Amino acid sequence: MGLTTAAIISTGTEILQGLYADTNARWLAEQLSAEGMEVRLSAAAPDDAEEIESLLRYAAQRADLVICSGGLGPTADDVNREVFARVFGMALVRDERAVTMMRERFARRGREMPESNLVQALVPEGAIVLYNEWGTAPGFFIPPAEERGRAHVHAPSCALLALPGPPRELYAMFRELALPLLRERIGARRYVLKRVIHTFGAPESEVGQYVHDLFATTADYAYTMLAKPHGIDIRIVVRASSLEEATLRLNELEKETRRRVPQELIYGYDDDTLPAVVAKMLTNHHIRLAVAESCTGGLVSKLLTDIPGSSAFFVQGLVTYANEAKMRLLGVHPTTLEKHGAVSEQTARAMAEGARQIADADYALAITGIAGPSGGTAAKPVGLTYIALADRANTNVQRFVFGGDREFNRMFAALTALNWLRLKLMT
Ligand code: ATP
Ligand code: MG
Repeated sequence: MGLTTAAIISTGTEILQGLYADTNARWLAEQLSAEGMEVRLSAAAPDDAEEIESLLRYAAQRADLVICSGGLGPTADDVNREVFARVFGMALVRDERAVTMMRERFARRGREMPESNLVQALVPEGAIVLYNEWGTAPGFFIPPAEERGRAHVHAPSCALLALPGPPRELYAMFRELALPLLRERIGARRYVLKRVIHTFGAPESEVGQYVHDLFATTADYAYTMLAKPHGIDIRIVVRASSLEEATLRLNELEKETRRRVPQELIYGYDDDTLPAVVAKMLTNHHIRLAVAESCTGGLVSKLLTDIPGSSAFFVQGLVTYANEAKMRLLGVHPTTLEKHGAVSEQTARAMAEGARQIADADYALAITGIAGPSGGTAAKPVGLTYIALADRANTNVQRFVFGGDREFNRMFAALTALNWLRLKLMT
């Protein structure tokens, strides 16, 4: 049989109060997935014996392995070991080696161990003790039913892994002590491969239409979509019993996705970012770029200069916020500003042309808009943004009305400008 499915239970009332994020669950899910296990459930429970027991029984029906984090401390709210012993019908016994290790740990710090810590050395009889070299509380592993000696009638058949809550301890104990035990018991090894396809320029609904019939989440396949400010990501995860099969399946799905999604929407894969992709294209094409920004306050310049080696293409970026700066630094004509306003097609065009000439660049990008939350009018609403792209022969301007808050509108304007540059360099 072997272990193939897993559930993660994080215990801690503070998690449910939002005091800290359940990063243990996320980390464990990543580790288990990498081992080829399928995580079927991840949930948090308060430090309450009844709640933990009912969630454990629920999880046990859905997974071969249940991992619980936290609740192994010495205080009254740490009830996990008692719950686990009761549910699995095991007595709690004191592990003398754990006591010794705990006493030594206190001694190294020149302190005597309070008697209250002794409860941490209690483990379910018959469990494999995971001795904690990174903290005080030992963890333990209750093997699946077929490995257990006397069967307790109401005991779940799943395996249980109990780990302390502090992430540093949990990570180390999982890697060093639990993983070898799990690997011996994990069912036929599954190979997991992932591919992310990044798109920009179409809304989620449109991207979804191209691939709607590929969406699914099954034991050996997950095809999902994630909307991010930097575009819509399509994520493909496949699991198979051999690496060849997984690779074949992943490539098939990637090919099918690329056949359906218009090529110009796809800007990259996996770790690619839009600024990095654009930076690479500019470098390869030996294009020198200048940028003039108003509402984005230098965001385009920042995104591009974040990329190492950007000096190969980036000449300069000017943040011209006031009208006076647009005139003085970019040579925008006063009548252009008076007649059409700072947020207008004409001003965007003049900004891009001025920026390109002053820098003697091949291309210039300019952005002017109303990021919000105030400053909008009926004729010029919040989100109205003009982006201009000038080369040595032509200048083009595009008008957008972005629908987000200030932060989103600024980021989206900057990325939209970069994406335009990408499309221009593609042809
Ligand atoms: P302790 O002996 O420290 O009480 P414990 O095993 O009882 O250990 P908890 O009391 O549940 O663990 O958690 C101790 C601390 O570890 C928490 O205050 C929190 O900072 C961190 N922690 C616990 N659970 C998680 C989690 N799921 N994700 C991230 N951090 C966590
Ligand atoms: Mg605790």
